[in-house]
Amino acid sequence: MDRGTLETIVGAMFAGKTSELLKRILWAEHQGKKILVIKPKIDNRYSEKLISTHNNLSHECYAMNNWKEVNSNFDFSNNNYEVVFLDEIQFMDSKETIKNVENLLQIGIDVVCAGLDQDSRGKPWDTSSYLLGLADKITKIYGFCNVCGLEATKTYRKIEGGERTQVGASNIYEPRCLKHWKPR
Ligand SMILES: [Zn+2]
Repeated sequence: MDRGTLETIVGAMFAGKTSELLKRILWAEHQGKKILVIKPKIDNRYSEKLISTHNNLSHECYAMNNWKEVNSNFDFSNNNYEVVFLDEIQFMDSKETIKNVENLLQIGIDVVCAGLDQDSRGKPWDTSSYLLGLADKITKIYGFCNVCGLEATKTYRKIEGGERTQVGASNIYEPRCLKHWKPR
């Protein structure tokens, strides 16, 4: 059996990562592929059972607490699934996620994952970094700076303080270019 392919999609907040993932989900469904979409449970901005873009496109998904739970709920053997999609990978446990993604690839399942590459301080997220390192294909997408409209690679925190894993709403974060971004 051929090894599965790993594609990793990264970018700043509001760059359109989930839209990019949804595009691939729709392609796979159009091809009649057996798919599974997973997101971490921490992300309950819009819905527990949906991945949603900021412009209200969505697809059903499984909201996971951890990989042990995923593996007891889904049987990945016997060609039950052809593509597994992971959203908000920065909030998934890095060690467990790498191990499980590697397992999926080894049994011939393609994996497409999406998430933030950096936090608002400019620090790389562990899980995203590992999945970039392991990827066969990398897609980095860019937002538009909220100040000048040029390409944005950074996520800017509009208010000070708060946890690193604070789930992002547009009242807290916005995309910014290097000139208009500072870490905080
Ligand atoms: Zn700018």
